Amino acid sequence: MARLTTPPAIVILGVGARDTARRVQSLYDGAQVHGLQGRVADADVAYTELNAHLRELYASGTPIIALCAAGIVIRCVAPLLANKGAEPPVLAVAEDGSAVVPLLGGLSGVNSMAREIAAALDVPPAITTSGELRFGACVLNPPDGYTLASLDQGKRFVSDLLAGEATRIEGDAPWLDGVQLPLADDAQRAIRVTPLAWHGATDELVIHPRSVVVGVRATGSGAGSLPQRIREAAQTHGLAAQALAVLLAPATLTGDPALRQAADELQVALRFTTDSSLDHDADHSAARMLSQTLRVPHKALDAPGDAPIAFAVAQAPLDPATVGRARGKLSVIGLGPGDASLMVPAARAALTQATDILGYETYVKMAGPFRADQRVHGTDNREEMQRARHAFELASAGRHVAMVSSGDPGVFAMAAAVLEALDGAREETQHAAWSAVELEIVPGVSAALATAAQAGAPLGHDFCMLSLSDNLKPWSIIEKRLRHAAEADLVMAFYNPISRARPWQLDKALDIVREYRAPATTVVLGRDIGRPGATLKTTTLAGLKSADVDMRTMVIIGSSTTRAFKPAGSGREWVYTPRWYE
Ligand code: SAH
Repeated sequence: MARLTTPPAIVILGVGARDTARRVQSLYDGAQVHGLQGRVADADVAYTELNAHLRELYASGTPIIALCAAGIVIRCVAPLLANKGAEPPVLAVAEDGSAVVPLLGGLSGVNSMAREIAAALDVPPAITTSGELRFGACVLNPPDGYTLASLDQGKRFVSDLLAGEATRIEGDAPWLDGVQLPLADDAQRAIRVTPLAWHGATDELVIHPRSVVVGVRATGSGAGSLPQRIREAAQTHGLAAQALAVLLAPATLTGDPALRQAADELQVALRFTTDSSLDHDADHSAARMLSQTLRVPHKALDAPGDAPIAFAVAQAPLDPATVGRARGKLSVIGLGPGDASLMVPAARAALTQATDILGYETYVKMAGPFRADQRVHGTDNREEMQRARHAFELASAGRHVAMVSSGDPGVFAMAAAVLEALDGAREETQHAAWSAVELEIVPGVSAALATAAQAGAPLGHDFCMLSLSDNLKPWSIIEKRLRHAAEADLVMAFYNPISRARPWQLDKALDIVREYRAPATTVVLGRDIGRPGATLKTTTLAGLKSADVDMRTMVIIGSSTTRAFKPAGSGREWVYTPRWYE
C-alpha cells in the first residue's frame, strides 16, 4: 500500500463508481471515498456540491482522484489554476475503471499515481508528459527523501535531454535504475545526487538527498537568527540547506521556542537527544552529540570542538523518526457525547496522530478502533491524577499522547487534572521535562449541549452546569450552589446526577430546587445521548423521580420561563428557554 503525505480523496458522483472507487482506495493508506450526498449512501465523506468540494480539496493540497469526466474536473478547479502554488495531483478515472487520466500535479507525482492506479485497474495510464513518456519516469519528481535544487534548471535540463543530449549520473539515484535515460559515461551533462549545494552550472541537474543532520548545542550564542546561523554554517561546509533533514538538539532544550521556529523556517524535523550523559556535556560539543545519537552510518563534518553548530551527513536520506526522539505532545481531547459525527475534527486528528491513547476504558473503546502501532492504556476512572502524571511521563519521553474524555475534556473531566498535575510538579525534578511537552486541549461537545440540542434549546438563556457528585467536594457546597442557582432562576444541567455509591443525593437536590421552582417547571432527561439506545424525555419538576435517572443521564431543570410545545402535525415536542424575560 502506498503512503502519500496527504491521503487522496476519491470523489464519486454516483453508486456506479463505487466498485472502482473501493479498488483505488485499497491502494492508498488513509484514502477516503467522498460521495455526493443523497446519491451515495455509504461514502466515507459526504459532500453536497461537487464544484465547491473539489475546489476545497484542491486548495488544501489534497490529491484528488475524481471518478468522472476529465472535463468536469478541469472546469471545477480551473478558477484556482492561475495561482501557481504547490499543486496536488489531480486525476480523472473513468467510472468503470477503463481509463486513468493524470491532469495536474506533474511535479507532485500525478504520473506515478496514474501508473499505480492504472496497474491496479489493469489498463494503460493516459500519460501525456513528454519527459515521462520518453524516460518512463519524471526526473523532476524524485521520491520522498530527495529534493530538486532548482526546478527551473531541472526543466531546462530535461528539455536538453529531450533534444538529444546525454547525461551521466553521479551519486546514488536508485529510483533512476531502469529509467530509460540517454546515459553515457563521458556525457558532459550530469545528474548529481549530492548534499552539496548547486552553484548554478547549467549542465547539471542537482538533486539533494535529505541526509544531513545539523546538531545545535545552544540557541543563544552568535550573531543573527538561529536559522541564519545554521544556513551560514551549512554554506561554510558547502552543504545545501535543502539537504537538511533533521535539527538535533539536547533534550534539555526541548521546550525552546527558538529551536521550533528554526526547524519550521528551515523545514526540517526537530529531534532531541536521548542520552542524558550529553545533557551536561562539559565540552559543549555539538559534534559529539551528533555522533552519539546517530544510529546510521554517517560522516561528521569537521567543526571546532566547542562549536555550537555541527553537521553530519548520512549515506542515504534519513528518516527523522530514527534520530533521537521527538518533542512529546499531550493532546487532551473530548470525544463529544458518543457519535463520531459530534467529535470535532481537531480531536479526530489528535487521535490519528497519537502514538499512545490514555483514558477510562469505556471512552478509549469509544474513541477506537486504533492501529496496531498505537498503544492503548485503559485505566479505571478513579485514578485521574495518576493517569495525568502517566500522560506527562509518556509525552516527556517523546510520545504523542491523546488523553480522552467524553464530552468536553474541561467539563468535569481530565483537562483540569492534567493541568493540576503539571502545576503540582513545579517543585519536582521532572518539571522541566513536563513543561517542555507540547500541551493542547481540544474542546468537545459536552453532554449538556448535546442533550439540549436534542430537546431544542433549553439552555437558550442563562444556565449553569453542576456536578452532583460529592466525591471531590463536600455535599454542603453542592447544596449551597443548588440554592443559589435555583434562586437565581438559572437553568441547571446536572452532571453525575446519581450512582450506586451516591443513591440519596439526587432526591435531596430536587427537594432543594422544589423550594424555589414551581412543580410545573420543565425538565429534560437525556440518557446515552449520541450513543446506541439514546432516550430523551421531557417531564416536570413534580413528575421527576430519581428512579428515572442513572449515571448515564443528563438532567436539565428548566427556569421559570422554560417551556415545551408540540408544533401541529410534527409529532414531537420541543423545549426552549426564550432569550428574554417579562
Ligand atoms: N466531560 C463530560 C462529562 C463527564 S461527567 C462532558 O462534557 O459531557 C459524566 C456525566 O456526564 C454523566 O454522569 C452524565 O450525567 C453526563 N453524560 C456524559 N455523557 C452523556 C451522554 N452521552 N448522555 C447523557 N449524559 C451524559
